[in-house]
Amino acid sequence: MKNRRESGIRLVVILLTALLILGATIRCFNRTKTGLEEEIQNTLRDVAQQNVMAVQNEIKGKYNLLVSIAEELRDYSGKKEDILSNWKAVTGVYHLKRLGYANADGTVHTTDGFEGNLSFRDFFKMGMNGEVEITDALTDTLGIPEKINVFSVPVYERNNKDVQGVLFATYRTAKFRDSLDITFFENQGYSCIVKKDGAVILDASNSPLEGAENIFDTMMEADEKNRNTADNMLHDMRTGGTGEGSCLLDGEEQYFYYTPLNVVEGNVEWYMLTVVPSSVLTERIRPILTDVGRFLAVLIVGVDLMVFFYLYSYRKQKQELVRLAYVDNLTQGDNFACFCKKMEARDAKQGFMVALGIRDFGFINDTCGLKKGDEILKAMWEILQKNIQSGELSARIGGDDFILFVPGEREERILEKVHQLDEKIRLLAYQLSVPAIVPYFGIYRIQGKDTAEKAYGFASLARHLVKERQDESYAFYNEEERKRLVEDHRMESEFDDSIEHRRFEVWYQPKCTMNNRVVGSEALVRWRDKDGALVPPFRFIPLFEKNGMISRLDEYVFEAVCMQQKAWKDEGKQLLPISVNISRVSLYYPDVVEKYQKIVQKYGLDPDMVQLEITESALIGNDGITSLVKSFHKAGFKLLLDDFGTGNSSLSSLNMMCFDTLKIDKSFVDHVGEEKGETLLSYIVNLARNFGMSITAEGVETEAQAEFLDKLHCDDIQGYYFSKPLPCQEYEEYVKKASALEINA
Ligand code: C2E
Ligand code: CA
Ligand code: CA
Repeated sequence: MKNRRESGIRLVVILLTALLILGATIRCFNRTKTGLEEEIQNTLRDVAQQNVMAVQNEIKGKYNLLVSIAEELRDYSGKKEDILSNWKAVTGVYHLKRLGYANADGTVHTTDGFEGNLSFRDFFKMGMNGEVEITDALTDTLGIPEKINVFSVPVYERNNKDVQGVLFATYRTAKFRDSLDITFFENQGYSCIVKKDGAVILDASNSPLEGAENIFDTMMEADEKNRNTADNMLHDMRTGGTGEGSCLLDGEEQYFYYTPLNVVEGNVEWYMLTVVPSSVLTERIRPILTDVGRFLAVLIVGVDLMVFFYLYSYRKQKQELVRLAYVDNLTQGDNFACFCKKMEARDAKQGFMVALGIRDFGFINDTCGLKKGDEILKAMWEILQKNIQSGELSARIGGDDFILFVPGEREERILEKVHQLDEKIRLLAYQLSVPAIVPYFGIYRIQGKDTAEKAYGFASLARHLVKERQDESYAFYNEEERKRLVEDHRMESEFDDSIEHRRFEVWYQPKCTMNNRVVGSEALVRWRDKDGALVPPFRFIPLFEKNGMISRLDEYVFEAVCMQQKAWKDEGKQLLPISVNISRVSLYYPDVVEKYQKIVQKYGLDPDMVQLEITESALIGNDGITSLVKSFHKAGFKLLLDDFGTGNSSLSSLNMMCFDTLKIDKSFVDHVGEEKGETLLSYIVNLARNFGMSITAEGVETEAQAEFLDKLHCDDIQGYYFSKPLPCQEYEEYVKKASALEINA
């Protein structure tokens, strides 16, 4: 679901980027186009202005000429045609076809010798009305019938009011056109002069409007869509405005610009229209278009390639991630995540989860090298794969930690499988020439809705249990054991805090003689947990011996006892020796003697007052014990051999160790009343005495036991018969009471 959303977002981002690039390119292209259009309009404007200037100059010159001749004619009283010949030369200079004078009746005389009547001509009529006129292109009716434009001015009477005739200059349209023939846009642009009603007066020689009479009609004929443009243009022209735009002519868009052309001050108003077909723009844009097109193509290919490489590497990366997530690096088989996924996908989860490993694999790794270790693990994986049946699953979790799921209900089946694997894995030692490879298995029967993780946890716990046993290679999960392990874990985690907050209490069990005299005591530790409940030593001592925490606890108890002795000493009380237990684990520390010595010195005590109980089993397997005992003795400590009779030590060790006191274990004391037991006890007591040891009997519960041991001349007796271990204050009271009784006796 999440993946789908991510790839959706990714796609949208890619598309948006592509759109953005496309948008930017289109914008860039449009801006270029608009820029070019503006440039064209500007050019049109410039060209129009140039044309306007040229035409205006041309016409002005002619007009001035006509006006000055008209004035001369006005003042001339003779026949006008008589002086006309004077102006013949002027026609050449001004590129005129002819000059002519029309009398009021329309009879005409020209400088090129024509006579006729032009009373039908509009310019004549207008001239007679006192108007100045420049005609559209007319066909010459006097001379060669070519296109001409006629400039005309009225010739006034001397009173300057009445018109006596009309002076006109005939101008070859072709010549007039010259002034319009400015080449621009590779001669594709053209200009023309139109009247403000749209009538075409003159067009450039390259104009396609040849023959067009009215520009608006032409526009409307060309396309209905031009109506709006034509209307705007007409409006502008009527109001003397300037404008620009585009329209469709000859099936092609044309850009145009129009500006008034003030030919003569007064009533004649023409317009200069400059036009360029859009093909000019297209031509100009084409190279840009080609470049943009190329750029776009490169861009698209580039983006495509980028997207492709991105998707490709993303896919690769994803595949690699999936591989890393689900494949075990060493075996290239399934890892635990993959195993869990496959378990999840199963409908029926009924079956057994087996956690398996190799005993002391760390040792094999250390002695044979990591490479060999890896080889063993790979071989183990292969064995699992070869022995796996349909419906079964396996994975390597890490190190020598493997997991197996075997569906089914029958315990025999799983045991058969375990034995089979056990046998094959053991054979690896020969095949790979390594020391013994001993697998061990923890088995958990999956209950109801157990997850793979939970089931593995239980199987692994069962394996943990079997690890400590040499006689078995498999164990089924056991709820009691689990609880014990959980409790152990809790105790381990609370240890530091309990030391810091002094939650370990020291209790004292008196050692007495038969006449109730207290001759000393044994310090026994109790753990007050957070809820205030008292935890007995058998719950935590073995655990702390296993994990090494015991030496800190021993030291703690020893120091607490020293502290107590010092307090009593400071109170002026008579000190009785207190024996403190020291675990065999603590004895492995080379500086143990100095440490204890320092503590005693710290509290200014006689080491005799804090004696040390070493359990008999500590003698087994600790070669350094003899010198250690010597060192303790040298430091002034008295040593008690605890639990004598339970540790299977040889009697000769009694001599070698030079213990000061022998503590006869409760297991011997319990046999008081039995002949053999009593005989054994008397032998032990005698033996110890012969070795010069004093004797304490432990676990004495009955009067009979106490009396028998007293008869054997045991030095002191420790047991419920006299007192259970007591908290400090109660012990103090016990001692006080006992000494009072003694005094009274
Ligand atoms: P232990 O050193 O043999 O201590 C004697 C144990 O026998 C004590 O058990 C005591 O309460 C019990 N006991 C004494 N008299 C009788 C009796 O008449 N009947 C019966 N049934 N039991 C009697 P506790 O206090 O539970 O200690 C158990 C063991 O825990 C001790 O055995 C000792 O090995 C160990 N321990 C206690 N405190 C320490 C300590 O500070 N350090 C170390 N390393 N071990 C300790
Ligand atoms: Ca003891
Ligand atoms: Ca004991």
